[in-house]
Amino acid sequence: ESQLNPNYSFENFLEGDSNRLARSAGLAVAAKPGGTSFNPLLIFGGVGLGKTHLAHAIGVDIKDKYPEKTVLYISAEKFTQQYIDSVKKNNRNDFIHFYQIIDVLIIDDVQFLSGKSGTQDVFFHIFNHLHQNGKQVILTSDKAPVDMQDIEQRLLSRFKWGLSAELQNPDFETRVSILKNKLYRDGVEMPDDIIEYVAKNIKTNVRELEGAIISLIAQSSFNKKEITIELAKQIVEKFVKNTKREVSIDYIQKIVSDYFQMDVDTLQSKTRKRHIVQARQLAMFFAKKLTKASLASIGSQIGKRDHATVLHACKTVDNLSSTDKQFRKYVEDITKKLSV
Ligand code: ADP
Ligand code: MG
Repeated sequence: ESQLNPNYSFENFLEGDSNRLARSAGLAVAAKPGGTSFNPLLIFGGVGLGKTHLAHAIGVDIKDKYPEKTVLYISAEKFTQQYIDSVKKNNRNDFIHFYQIIDVLIIDDVQFLSGKSGTQDVFFHIFNHLHQNGKQVILTSDKAPVDMQDIEQRLLSRFKWGLSAELQNPDFETRVSILKNKLYRDGVEMPDDIIEYVAKNIKTNVRELEGAIISLIAQSSFNKKEITIELAKQIVEKFVKNTKREVSIDYIQKIVSDYFQMDVDTLQSKTRKRHIVQARQLAMFFAKKLTKASLASIGSQIGKRDHATVLHACKTVDNLSSTDKQFRKYVEDITKKLSV
């Protein structure tokens, strides 16, 4: 079982300036897996820009050209889970062996390995074995290797051995062709000005670009409404608002410290003064609630604390907001400030 999705093909992965390098490198790897200097091939870029699609496309193409090769696609999250299970069941060696005999290993979202030293260690050994035997490794990540945090140096240096190719935001023309291609495949007709309106307004995430078109089609067919610019506007607005809602941990610390009239340095300081501790705990609580950052990453950004401290802060805020009226008001006020 390769776990590959045949719909994620090269044919369906439209080319543009934003992805030309990554796409060409992918084609080169698919033509000669393990036989190019692109080993590993690391594809990186933001959410919804096509990393998973392109990783599958390479695997699908290899399977097509070399049916005898074993190709495996797996997310770093699932890989981690399998590894943990193997340790529990006392068959870590079987786990390692399984991965060492694969011809093409594709691991998606390797940023997930950050902070997981056991899994990084086992992956390091698997990687070395595959690489030494001329097997192909393909990785994806939401960041370039230089920006990855909590990944062991020796692993990062392996990531940099081959080629790191970035998927950037697609330009307007590419966004239009992606939409047209999708509509064509789905057998749906849509006026050009509507397609262009959507493509003009959703710029940084192909998944959302497609999502907007899907809601547009659904809205019009369920409500028997004509597809108009007006309707497109309403739908696009929802998507654009949603993307703006990503707040940063820095912004949360700024809002919380302003609220308590202290500066960010004070909020991050080592002091045990009650009101400062509470401000810090609130910042951690909101960071957990409103961002995708891990506990460890939140801790390191809010005064270099560890993940246990952040977890404790979240629990304390939960408890206090149900038992302490004043504290509940803090939470409500800050929630409002963070949602404007
Ligand atoms: P990521 O893994 O980077 O978050 P995905 O690979 O899941 O992104 O892509 C999100 C959606 O956008 C998928 O439906 C994918 O098919 C589509 N997509 C992304 N880039 C392209 C492209 N260049 N051509 C066609 N579809 C694309
Ligand atoms: Mg993905």
